[in-house]
Amino acid sequence: MDGVFLSTEKAKSVVDILNNVLDEYKVELIYNYRLEHLQKHFKVFKLISTENQLIIAYNVVLATGGVTYKETGSSGDGLNIAEALGHSITEIKPGGVLLTVREEWIPDLKGITLEDVGLSLRSGGKIIPLPRGNLLFTHFGVSGPVILDMSHENRGNYGQIW
Ligand SMILES: Cc1cc2nc3c(=O)[nH]c(=O)nc-3n(C[C@H](O)[C@H](O)[C@H](O)COP(=O)(O)OP(=O)(O)OC[C@H]3O[C@@H](n4cnc5c(N)ncnc54)[C@H](O)[C@@H]3O)c2cc1C
Repeated sequence: MDGVFLSTEKAKSVVDILNNVLDEYKVELIYNYRLEHLQKHFKVFKLISTENQLIIAYNVVLATGGVTYKETGSSGDGLNIAEALGHSITEIKPGGVLLTVREEWIPDLKGITLEDVGLSLRSGGKIIPLPRGNLLFTHFGVSGPVILDMSHENRGNYGQIW
């Protein structure tokens, strides 16, 4: 699927919409609170931050992201916190990842998009066909929907473009 963009073409519009909803429901926001421990005591949850700030809550939504980009906060904390509460964690795989390639001629094609490209993955002697899509050459390798979609199929093997 091609990207879907906001009519304003500004990411801030999404933040504004979310803030409006929070205002409407009079939600209190607490900033700079790094959750370290989440414990269940009978019917309540006890949240303790890295600064030892305590919050008691009846319900908790854990929306701490994945393990993608530590600098943006998605450190994987939430997985450890959920596991400590007794949840099972499935295997973590990469997704939406661009590919770097060794071939030196690829950077010369940067900015060029190929439409409706087929990809296959060689894995354990088998060739696995993947859904078709657009492919974009970049200064370091290949990107575009077809590459981003295939990245979760990465099994440490070799991809092939056809
Ligand atoms: C470089 C890059 C480009 C991307 N581009 C796109 C794009 O163009 N379009 C698209 O749809 N998606 C894009 N994505 C993916 C998108 O950003 C994620 O899918 C999305 O942000 C996930 O949302 P989330 O709310 O689950 O987690 P996050 O956005 O990661 O939010 C999790 C929040 O939890 C906080 N947190 C984590 N641990 C704790 C803790 N212990 N205590 C308190 N807070 C904590 C984090 O600080 C963070 O603010 C991109 C991602 C990256 C890295």
